[in-house]
Amino acid sequence: MIHLISDLHLSPDDDALLHRFTTYLSSLTPSDSLYMLGDLFEYWLGDDAAEFLGQRPVEEALARLTANGTKVWLMRGNRDFLAGTDFADRCGVGLLEDEHILQMGDHRILLMHGDSLCTDDLEHQAFRSLVRTDVWQQTFLAKSVPERDAMARAVRYRSENGKVAKAIEIMDVTQPAVEAVMHQHQVRLLIHGHTHRPAIHQFALSGPQSGHRIVLGDWATGPSSICIHASHLELRHDTKADALYF
Ligand code: MN
Repeated sequence: MIHLISDLHLSPDDDALLHRFTTYLSSLTPSDSLYMLGDLFEYWLGDDAAEFLGQRPVEEALARLTANGTKVWLMRGNRDFLAGTDFADRCGVGLLEDEHILQMGDHRILLMHGDSLCTDDLEHQAFRSLVRTDVWQQTFLAKSVPERDAMARAVRYRSENGKVAKAIEIMDVTQPAVEAVMHQHQVRLLIHGHTHRPAIHQFALSGPQSGHRIVLGDWATGPSSICIHASHLELRHDTKADALYF
């Protein structure tokens, strides 16, 4: 079975959240595959800072799961875009680029984190373009871990304050960006996270069939996940469940 989760925002000062995550992981079997669509961590300062960040228990939980046979992939989000191959190797997980095609028989499903679709949020798009460059990342990772921590805190707090000031609709995806990326990849189904607005959206796309966009929720109050079966997929968020039949 294929499972998808996103936006856990794991932080070492939230034991309940870590417990929710490890309980979910222990429900997976060796024949399952798990796709994590970004923002697994509240923030990540580089693979050499896992100990500093108190995130070793997360790495150990993932390593136990993958050693048992479960296949796990991580797509990086806007908060953990610095997760790299050292982290992936320690956990036994594979790294995915943003905009990954999941082929399920005849179905092509586009997986994304989702922040690149929030095209009305110009401030975030400028930040995203900057921090995804090799030059920025090399310069940042060359600093000491405490220096990186101070820089990340400054950015994070600015971003949190900015969120309050921004209109709610600016933080959501825009329909033209959704349709453009779905057209580019020739898909009718897109799954992403980031916006913390779990839902199954249906809309008209060129051609006879409609398009669907499924949004995974965050884990602040309970698990949010998608399970893909042969005939349908199920979106579960807290105590609610919604299904899409293929
Ligand atoms: Mn995000």
